[in-house]
Amino acid sequence: MQTAVIFLIFITGLVLGSFFNVVICRVPEKKSIVKPRSACPCCGTVLKPRDLIPVFSFLLQKGRCRYCKSPISLQYPIVELSSGLVFTAVYLKYGISPEFFFLCYLMSILIIVFFIDLKHMIIPNGLVLAGIAGGLAFFALRFFYNDAVTGDEPWYSPLLGIAAVSGFLLLVAVIGMIVYGSDALGMGDVKIFIPISLFLGFKLSVLALFLTIFSGGITGLFLIITKLKNRRSQIPFGPFIVIGTFISLLFGNSIIEWYLRIL
Ligand SMILES: [Zn+2]
Repeated sequence: MQTAVIFLIFITGLVLGSFFNVVICRVPEKKSIVKPRSACPCCGTVLKPRDLIPVFSFLLQKGRCRYCKSPISLQYPIVELSSGLVFTAVYLKYGISPEFFFLCYLMSILIIVFFIDLKHMIIPNGLVLAGIAGGLAFFALRFFYNDAVTGDEPWYSPLLGIAAVSGFLLLVAVIGMIVYGSDALGMGDVKIFIPISLFLGFKLSVLALFLTIFSGGITGLFLIITKLKNRRSQIPFGPFIVIGTFISLLFGNSIIEWYLRIL
């Protein structure tokens, strides 16, 4: 039974992931995400259902368009697989519960943010707003339901999270702008933490920020040491926010407990 549920959730993740691919490709170009039907960007052939099976079409066609043989971006199977795995991980942590559905919604938006920010160095406002809408619904539900994400924190914990995390990042962004004239930390990074805090509450969103800074810092150092990037090059912050949030919603409470114990 458990295996069947996991399989179903994984497949749902794969299928939704193929929709996320469409969003990732079209939103930065301000195109509709419903129309037109998906076509090969190279030869323009409208893709048939058998070309659109997540991951499998890519593998069967060895990563090439069936019609013109031009290579298909690895982004497609990567987004599909990560969506399947992320959904499965959220299920293993929260079971079938309101938390599961809400956190999958948040992670869906964040998977899209991850790839758009990586490619274009922007976090579109539409995604932030979609996140806030879902976050407010989860926030309202908490008045009737004791959720496992914020646990015994007070009802206003998500609001505290917004003030602390987005407030802190806003301060950093403004100081960076005024003192150094740098826009390394974009407003998108400040804004995307608003829905994240609405979903995670104070404790877990502060932890998500720490994990973001930690993973971003290590990766930045690595890129500079290996000379893949230099000190001046821009590194998108969004992907680290997504990783930090994901780790926090899966393992946050254990991490905090562990940290308090060694303190
Ligand atoms: Zn083609």
